[in-house]
Amino acid sequence: MNENPVTPLIDRFGRQVTYLRVSVTDRCDFRCQYCMSEDMTFLPRAQILTLEEIQQICQAFVELGVSKIRVTGGEPLVRKGVIGLLQQLGQLDGLDELVMTTNASRLAEMAKDIHAAGVKRINISLDSLKPERFKQITRVGELDKVLAGIHAARQLPFEKIKLNAVILKGRNHDEVGDLVQFAVDQKLDISFIEEMPLGIIDSHQRDEVFYPSDQIKQDIASRFELLSLIESTGGPSVYHRVKETHTRVGFISPHSHNFCASCNRVRLTVEGRLLLCLGNEHSVDLKQVLRRYPGDSDRLKQVIVDAMQIKPEKHEFNLHEQPVIMRHMSATGG
Ligand code: SAM
Ligand code: SF4
Repeated sequence: MNENPVTPLIDRFGRQVTYLRVSVTDRCDFRCQYCMSEDMTFLPRAQILTLEEIQQICQAFVELGVSKIRVTGGEPLVRKGVIGLLQQLGQLDGLDELVMTTNASRLAEMAKDIHAAGVKRINISLDSLKPERFKQITRVGELDKVLAGIHAARQLPFEKIKLNAVILKGRNHDEVGDLVQFAVDQKLDISFIEEMPLGIIDSHQRDEVFYPSDQIKQDIASRFELLSLIESTGGPSVYHRVKETHTRVGFISPHSHNFCASCNRVRLTVEGRLLLCLGNEHSVDLKQVLRRYPGDSDRLKQVIVDAMQIKPEKHEFNLHEQPVIMRHMSATGG
């Protein structure tokens, strides 16, 4: 085992990994243009981790010092049995934060169970407030259902609900101010995300729709006063507060502002690959370890500790080339 048994997950650059993001399914009831192609082929069941395997891997990470787990996908709420998984994760000793990212299409029905399972914070994707446009971007999504999901979540004492909006030039960039106003009205936080070139998509060239965070910030500044916040969440978002409101506005800028130096996270793909960086392919196959040595949690943990040695220093996204990273965000744990 590693020489430091309390914090063994430290990489070659001295960064400590305390945060695991888990894709529990690559499937989704939406087909967002920037995330998937229209006719996605999803993985066969035998190839994806069972819920029990996901639980075992999460437990190993928590025993190795991980204090935050995000359940995501694909759309996590379409995975059968996901509430049971959340209940198990919610009971892991040493896990301080169980959080989730969802498109909220099923949140109205499931929010209560999600909260009762111990999920503390939820991120909800919302790229447009116009029903027609929302359907266009998601290809199938119904805005009403998502708004009902947001409403249901707001009735419960979640510690935080944050909106996520991917902004694309010519598709939804004109709604940045309205999205901030919605967040202010609903007393929610909101993050704006630059599109990342993950996987093959068929609706646009990534460089044609690139809309940088600095431009988004300027657009917002024409309607709202943004105050810089020194506080950091340890993540890639740089936060501002909308003056005299509860709302914080975050900018996730993988292209315009590299955030790798403070990276504290790794991802578990739906196929059981431990992915050391979103923008590189360095990974270790944990599913194989689990299936070859069932019940051997020490071996699993050692493989995870050793994997820290191949965590890359930074991501290398290039908007102008065909994606070097062939996997979609949905399989990755976005
Ligand atoms: N289905 C859930 C949702 O949409 O919130 C969770 C999974 S989704 C992959 C997680 C986040 O990744 C969403 O906020 C989505 O907008 C974002 N996302 C997906 N593809 C992306 C891409 N190519 N670039 C940037 N963000 C992306
Ligand atoms: Fe589904 Fe989320 Fe990808 Fe949209 S961003 S297609 S909701 S996984």
